Amino acid sequence: MTCLFCQIAKGEIPAQKIYEDGKTFAFLDIKPISKGHALVIPKAHSEHFDDMDAEDTHHVMDTVQRLAPKIMEAVGASAYNVGVNVRPDAGQVVMHTHIHIIPRTADDGLKSWPGQDADNLDEIKDKIAANL
Ligand code: AMP
Ligand code: ZN
Repeated sequence: MTCLFCQIAKGEIPAQKIYEDGKTFAFLDIKPISKGHALVIPKAHSEHFDDMDAEDTHHVMDTVQRLAPKIMEAVGASAYNVGVNVRPDAGQVVMHTHIHIIPRTADDGLKSWPGQDADNLDEIKDKIAANL
């Protein structure tokens, strides 16, 4: 299987690496949403966030939590978004789990997701709770 992010984690394809440990790898996004936009990945392949094993999830989120404020400071940002696109309908293009760290500033012009008027919250909550 040829997976772009597996190859990046192994150093087989060049990337702007910012951090690496035994389980995780972080590098700059090649098409950044903002200056310092970075991706954190598990070295072990999983397609989706919810396929990642519990230990890798712990390590990846730990790396995200430690790197994000350092990235923010380094690029002069004042905030950041952490995001995961899970499956193609949510915008996932690369099928190797990755977490986006997107530095933000007050005047960067990026829009947050729009909210809508709530409809049937009770029913939706019950459906979700029944599926757990
Ligand atoms: P997603 O839409 O969540 O699957 O995000 C995939 C991200 O990977 C996009 O933001 C791309 O710009 C980024 N990307 C794709 N190829 C590379 C690469 N070779 N090096 C760094 N980032 C990449
Ligand atoms: Zn992979």
